[in-house]
Parts: sequence; C-alpha cells; structure tokens
Amino acid sequence: MPSEPAVAPALTPVPTLTATLLTAMYTHAQSTYPEECCGFLFGPHESPVVDTVQPCVNEQNRYHALDPERFPRTARTAYYLGGKDLRLLMQSMTSPRPVKIIYHSHIDVGAYFSAEDIRAALGREPDATAEPLYPVDYLVIDAQGDHVAGAKLFRWDAQQHAFAQIATYPGSAAFPA
Ligand SMILES: [Zn+2]
Repeated sequence: MPSEPAVAPALTPVPTLTATLLTAMYTHAQSTYPEECCGFLFGPHESPVVDTVQPCVNEQNRYHALDPERFPRTARTAYYLGGKDLRLLMQSMTSPRPVKIIYHSHIDVGAYFSAEDIRAALGREPDATAEPLYPVDYLVIDAQGDHVAGAKLFRWDAQQHAFAQIATYPGSAAFPA
C-alpha cells in the first residue's frame, strides 16, 4: 500500500491542465477509440503542478479473454491497469514525482464517474468503509467518433465519502490541430 500523502488530497489545489497536456491525452484517447485508453499524469510532489503524461496499456481485453466471468467487460466500457503500470503507480507514490491523476476515456457515453470507475478506484464494491486505493484524482475523457468532447476531473471527498467533480475541460475543438 502507498504511504500517506504529505497533504490530504482534499486540501490540495486543483491542478491546472495545460492545452498541451490535454492534447496529449486526447490524442491517446482518439488512437485507442473505440476502446478506452488509460494513463497517468505526473508532477512534482511539493507543488500542485502536473506536467507529464504517461500513456498506459489498457489490459481489459486481455483479462476479458482470459477470464470473461471475472472480467465481463471489454475495453470498450472498462480499463484495467496491468502489473507494470501498477508498479510504476505505486513506486511513484513515495518518489519526488508521484502520479497525481489517473486518466481514462469513455467511448460515446460522455465523461462521468461510473459505478465501474468507483469500483476501480476503491478496488472493491463501495460501502461505508471503502477508501480510494491511491491518493490521486481521476480524469475522465469524453471520446467520440471523430473528436474529444471534453473531460472532467473527479476527486474523493472524504466527508461525503464519494467522488465529486472538481473541474471540467474543453474538448479537442478548442485547441489548434
Ligand atoms: Zn470510466
């Protein structure tokens, strides 16, 4: 398990996502369409800055093929981080440049934090005692057939014991090609 973050996530300012970062993630989302993409955003531990995009591999289809009962969804409606990316995530938590945000795309259904996303973030079914596995925010990207319509950022609210939307971002049409 990762060690406690130095600052409670709820007290951390909302990170600014530049057009360059958004474009990199939107390009990733369009390259994997009609499958969900997933990845990490890193930044320096001591500030709320986020400055690096790291695409991950969505292993959902591989696990679905191996064990469709345990993994009934395909990569069209779910993402699954493989062992290599999970190790990178966990090791980063105690490093000077931790993962700050885990991003993934939704295919044609809009950017919202789904029941599947809540399960993935908690590592189990939600209940009164479930807590997020990692001290990160979650960005959901609204991937459509020929463009990205926007993205929304979600953060665990310890008081509400639920994920809350904390920021929205414009779609790919807002940026120069
Ligand atoms: Zn999702």
